Amino acid sequence: MASFSNVKQLFDIQGRNYIVTGGAQGIGFAIVHALAQVGANVVALDIQTKPNADFDSVAKQFGVNIRYVQADVTDEKGLGAAFQTAFGILGTVHGLVTCAGIALEKAFEQTSWAECRRIQDVNVTGTYFSAQLVAEQFKKQGTGGSIVLIASITSHTVLPQHRMSAYGASKGAVRMLSQALAVELAGNGIRVNSISPGFIDTEMTQEVRNKNPVMVDIMNKTPPLKRIGTRDDLMGAAVYLLSDASSYTTAGDIAITGGLHVQMALDCQLAF
Ligand code: NAP
Repeated sequence: MASFSNVKQLFDIQGRNYIVTGGAQGIGFAIVHALAQVGANVVALDIQTKPNADFDSVAKQFGVNIRYVQADVTDEKGLGAAFQTAFGILGTVHGLVTCAGIALEKAFEQTSWAECRRIQDVNVTGTYFSAQLVAEQFKKQGTGGSIVLIASITSHTVLPQHRMSAYGASKGAVRMLSQALAVELAGNGIRVNSISPGFIDTEMTQEVRNKNPVMVDIMNKTPPLKRIGTRDDLMGAAVYLLSDASSYTTAGDIAITGGLHVQMALDCQLAF
């Protein structure tokens, strides 16, 4: 008789401790909520002075420790101090999800040095050093751990009607960073993976739809699954990658796009 692991136990992260950057709203907050739902404790770091109105009720609702620490991922000293605060709150840390990010929809020729630099600084450098800080902590603990970087569909393909060269360049870098770290840190038992969301209904994409109503149709109709993604669509992948269910998964990327990252490639092939 074959002997298998208990699958429920593999997904069980109850009582584990995580850090989520960009956790004040949007995808980051959804991941904070998902982790709380399955019984994990979380420190959310974000540049906003305070998180969204629902944040404070999450700890009480699920009986876990959910805390907020304001931090700018581009501020070397401030980020280091924020991670130390998080380590102090959580004790042993089991994982990190990096959601802090900014986007810019602007023509290549009109994008300024300052705009391009800011995007790379937040999305790439901020992610890089968040991962470095938690990796150092894992090594100090001697525990290993799981790091999940939020990349983007724009690291796979170019979106219809979008001009996001600086953003796409930053997300391509995030996805490659995940692979480079996965190989470099594997010997320490640290796994690194990325999630590439497609169009997800958050404050970030709401702003895009508000500015340019044609985006409502593009976001709802271009994915093969014929709808925009919701934050719920990302929760399972985050829990999976942080849990022991993914213990042999590293250097991976989960594209959660309703199929759009492949559809775009097919459209290009058909055009030739
Ligand atoms: P969001 O709603 O704007 O949330 C991002 C959070 O990160 C915000 O609270 C933001 O604060 C914060 N942040 C920005 N700069 C920061 C900094 N320097 N230090 C710390 N925190 C900072 O965006 P989202 O849609 O949830 O996106 C989360 C991640 O998923 C981003 O990396 C984004 O690129 C990626 N993504 C999103 C989609 C999508 O369709 N929504 C698709 C693909 C990838 P402010 O609001 O003050 O800037």
